[in-house]
Amino acid sequence: MKIVEQSHMILYPCTEDDWETEYKLIELAGRTAYKSENKISAESHIAFIKGIVSRNHLAVIEFGNIVVHFVTDRGITHELVRYRLCSFVQESTRYCNYGSGKFGNEVAFVMPSGLDDLLRKGEWIQSCRDSEDQYLKLLEIGCTPQQARAVLPNCTKTEIVVKANFREWRHVFELRAVSKDAHPDMRLLMIPLYEEVRAICPQIFDLGDPE
Ligand SMILES: Cc1cc2nc3c(=O)[nH]c(=O)nc-3n(C[C@H](O)[C@H](O)[C@H](O)COP(=O)(O)OP(=O)(O)OC[C@H]3O[C@@H](n4cnc5c(N)ncnc54)[C@H](O)[C@@H]3O)c2cc1C
Repeated sequence: MKIVEQSHMILYPCTEDDWETEYKLIELAGRTAYKSENKISAESHIAFIKGIVSRNHLAVIEFGNIVVHFVTDRGITHELVRYRLCSFVQESTRYCNYGSGKFGNEVAFVMPSGLDDLLRKGEWIQSCRDSEDQYLKLLEIGCTPQQARAVLPNCTKTEIVVKANFREWRHVFELRAVSKDAHPDMRLLMIPLYEEVRAICPQIFDLGDPE
């Protein structure tokens, strides 16, 4: 078995120019409402977006998008895929055969946070080992990956690509990064992304400090 850390990577926008493309599209779409396209200049999107957000005219920021690749566990992705306005592609336990050479003939897991004493950590490792043994045994006796996956736990590592517009990301950050009520491991995944995006574009994504 292998233990991996949660992580994120923004796939798009990748560069400052990409971010500007999103901002400028928001401005172009938004100025259609006021027929003020004649005010567009190299820098005008900054004040325009600030104004839109301060008036809570958030439909306009739906024209900007972010795509993020996450490494996390299947418990966390079960929560993430509840956000209906996002698009998702997730590593498939139907098609990925962790008993094959491609995966090193082993299953990867994410350790829940807070298992900070040896007893609890040891028990968790043992239960992952047991489920991995059972998974590999089921494959050996002819089960398909989509049958064998039934014995894998929520802490099985997974990867998911999430695309959403700026408004939906604000919603996700409010509930899963800023709010103290989110699952601690969701917050460990989401707060670094929130802080990254907040630093890039505070006029849209500054929702305050995580509680
Ligand atoms: C702390 C916490 C605990 C939770 N506990 C549970 C739990 O115990 N059990 C459980 O099942 N879920 C639970 N959830 C998940 C929660 O119920 C939502 O499914 C999840 O947070 C997605 O939120 P959402 O529907 O607002 O987002 P999205 O689906 O992304 O929707 C975004 C927004 O669009 C609007 N919208 C979307 N669809 C509709 C619609 N059909 N009608 C009207 N407006 C719509 C709403 O304004 C919504 O807020 C929990 C979430 C949190 C943050």
